[in-house]
Amino acid sequence: KEAIRDNVMRPSRVVPYPSKDGKPIYTSEFFGESVFGLAQIAKALPKPAYAQFLRQMRGGRALDKGTADAIAHAVRIWAMDKGATHFTHWFQPQTGTTAEKHDAFLTLKTTHGPHGVEETKAIDAFSGSQLLQAEPDASSFPSGGMRTTFEARGYTVWDTTSPMFVQQGPHKTCVLYIPSVFISYNGDALDEKTVLLRSTQQVAKAALAVLALLEPVPQGAPPITSVVYTTLGTEQEYFLVDRALYVLRPDLKITGRVLVGALPAKHQQMEDHYFGHIPSRVLATMSEAELELYKLGVPVKTRHNEVAPQQFELAPIFEETSLAVDHNLLTMDVLSKVAHRNNLKVLYHEKPFKGVNGSGKHCNWSLSTGSGDNLLDPTIKPETNFRFLFFLLATLDAVQKHGSLLRAGIASASNEHRLGANEAPPAIISVFLGEHLTEVLNSIEESRPIKNFSMPNIQSIKLGGTALDVMVSTLPEISRDLTDRNRTSPFAFTGNKFEFRAVGSKQSPSFPMTLLNAAVASSLQDMAEALRTASGDKAFPSDADKFKVIRQYIASTKNVRFEGDGYSDDWRQEAARRGLPNITNCPDAFDQIIEKKNSAMLCKLGIFSESELQSRHYILMERYSKDLLLEANTLRTILAQQVLPAAYEYRAALASSCAQQKAIGVGSNCPELTTLNLTTPLVESLLVWIEKLDEAINHVHNASDDPSKEARASAKYLLPAMEGAREVADELETIIADKYFPLPKMSEILWF
Ligand code: ADP
Ligand code: MG
Repeated sequence: KEAIRDNVMRPSRVVPYPSKDGKPIYTSEFFGESVFGLAQIAKALPKPAYAQFLRQMRGGRALDKGTADAIAHAVRIWAMDKGATHFTHWFQPQTGTTAEKHDAFLTLKTTHGPHGVEETKAIDAFSGSQLLQAEPDASSFPSGGMRTTFEARGYTVWDTTSPMFVQQGPHKTCVLYIPSVFISYNGDALDEKTVLLRSTQQVAKAALAVLALLEPVPQGAPPITSVVYTTLGTEQEYFLVDRALYVLRPDLKITGRVLVGALPAKHQQMEDHYFGHIPSRVLATMSEAELELYKLGVPVKTRHNEVAPQQFELAPIFEETSLAVDHNLLTMDVLSKVAHRNNLKVLYHEKPFKGVNGSGKHCNWSLSTGSGDNLLDPTIKPETNFRFLFFLLATLDAVQKHGSLLRAGIASASNEHRLGANEAPPAIISVFLGEHLTEVLNSIEESRPIKNFSMPNIQSIKLGGTALDVMVSTLPEISRDLTDRNRTSPFAFTGNKFEFRAVGSKQSPSFPMTLLNAAVASSLQDMAEALRTASGDKAFPSDADKFKVIRQYIASTKNVRFEGDGYSDDWRQEAARRGLPNITNCPDAFDQIIEKKNSAMLCKLGIFSESELQSRHYILMERYSKDLLLEANTLRTILAQQVLPAAYEYRAALASSCAQQKAIGVGSNCPELTTLNLTTPLVESLLVWIEKLDEAINHVHNASDDPSKEARASAKYLLPAMEGAREVADELETIIADKYFPLPKMSEILWF
């Protein structure tokens, strides 16, 4: 109760927005001020060296020592002027988060004086080789058995495609961050980023090959575009809870979700939270986080309340995919730190509270040319836009052939609670296109003109001038997306991009994006081949050749298109008829990574090696059982040490009340006895469930050392035991007097 009082009495933190001479500074003026980007590098280097750097950045060639030294020197001075004392390679091991190890710029330098007298001086230094490479001890990061400990060498190497930045910490600490990849002594990817960068290279190469066929230029002329990259905008959902209550919940602290707790009378059924007024403490936290993120060059754009109580969302402006991933991880980190300062805790878990909506990370994905043309822009006449049709169909083909792989990319113990529940996309991966695009594809396939759609009407909804309401006539015409919305689809076309909705809020978008890029690269290669075949010995395909390939792909990808309700039982049956996989558990999903068709594609493109795939598979399985074991053990402790004792205490109070009443001659059947009797079977049942939990935990421990078997045993034994135990505990919670119950309840955590 003290915690609740604390929560209510907390003063708000006031963080002033940057200002100068009493006037606010515009966001655009300090945006990116903590970033050492291309402009700064250009300034630090002589022109030819900068050109060399750009070539390296785009082609992955090695950077020479002189250039690296010059950049290192410039960035050190820049960072130190901002207060930095340390630098760190910042990388993404396969833990879902980032890793960093700080080194001071401070160095000792010993010089020999004229008579052999040694003099040691402190200097600040940062060399090109320190910028380029570091060697953290790799043995404590997940490697999936790829390295034995005695050869545990791992290297972090500067990823020049992502800019360096300084980040201020508490008490004026300030560190220079160097975005890096993490590889083994043999060059195997030990991280999430190396493979993402490989996948973006492959998708770029394949896309350029398709564009060269679709849009040939006269011999000798430069290609229309020489750069293609994928774009990503992540819609990040999260919960915020008060820290005083959070620390009283071991389950939230250890596992990120509530393992016992009855649903309060009011949760989300009033539909009053979505887009509602943002609570002031939350708004203060959001603004403070945004302020820091702007300085770090993260283009945060939108913020709003989500459906569940205390659930919120934040979305940036989209960027090149690997930068967007870095920025998403940075955003999650900054938001956590700022929330902490505001005595709040961010929950990124996909399903922290049973009974209310979970959180996702919708990954909006598209492809862009170097000059910013969106390759998935349908334009006014999609039916004759070859570019659009080819890239759309390549994506459909990718999902059709490798949907199971995409499913693997989003599988985790926590996201599993969300997938397939009636609030989040189902575990069957299908694509929603919307009425208009469906008709576009159908009309091409059937070689007939398009029905029903005259573009001007579809692009705007007329509000002005209606006789219904004079008020409305003052509103402008609003433009309408080419597609309507279908929230039940895991992979939906939304206007000029695909939205992969099944991605979990807690996970790094890196792995799912790597797999998506890979699958699309492979399909683009196939389509280019089909186009070459269709055009025979002609130098360039004709429009008829292009339509031939388009028709062929419309037909072959039809199976994966679904416009209906993804939550319905009918869809499950229909999907089974279509042969679309419905992978309902994590171990089965993880197996898709090493499944022949998927692994052959990934290895052929050089995005993963065979052994890298085996190691990911191993790590995912291992993490899954670790996650579930952690939950089961935490639940067991809570039940035995908090819920049961509370029940016993309440029973004791009831029993002594009965005894007292009997002693003074009040009827032997006092009302307290009724309540006491109500708790008896529940307490007995809880004891049995605790035993069952123990048995389940033992089952997993004895399952063998094979992580696949252990993961399967975890799914089979731990999940039902936890579910069963919770049901009884939740019922007890509703009976035990509030003052005996030691855990903050969902009603207290979810409404502050
Ligand atoms: P909604 O999904 O609610 O329609 P938005 O249109 O704001 O919301 O888009 C959501 C996210 O999609 C934003 O992060 C936005 O930057 C991103 N986005 C928009 N266009 C693209 C694109 N071409 N490629 C990748 N992401 C995009
Ligand atoms: Mg969206």
